[in-house]
Amino acid sequence: MDLDLKERISQHFLVAEVVKTCSEDVDNTVINNARRLAETCLEPVRCRINRPLIVNSWYRSVKYNASVGGKRSSQHIRGEAVDIHLDADCWKIQLGELVPLFKHYADYDQLIVESSPTAHWLHVSHTERHENRHQYLRIKTH
Ligand SMILES: [Zn+2]
Repeated sequence: MDLDLKERISQHFLVAEVVKTCSEDVDNTVINNARRLAETCLEPVRCRINRPLIVNSWYRSVKYNASVGGKRSSQHIRGEAVDIHLDADCWKIQLGELVPLFKHYADYDQLIVESSPTAHWLHVSHTERHENRHQYLRIKTH
């Protein structure tokens, strides 16, 4: 599929952000899932904080997901999940602002604070395959 990286999938998000870390095997389902995630979860929060949400990683092909040690069931494979960057020196403050906004305004399936020894990020997902569960979790990875 030909990708127009400058195309908007929603008011504040571009195709380029969906395929930031992986652009192989992208199809319309991925783009449509990414658009729904942006509309139902990211935009309601983005519009309220009024500054960019920085994308670390969004869509991942099956192959790329395996190469970074992702679970085979990862919602990133469908474009249904995005990892939002948190700054190393003020991630707690950012979470204190972002988590309540997501909980209140976003129709999320999972909202996960993920931490490695060196970084923290916020995983947000939305799906059309079942009821969105509004699960809030904290996970340490390595
Ligand atoms: Zn993630």
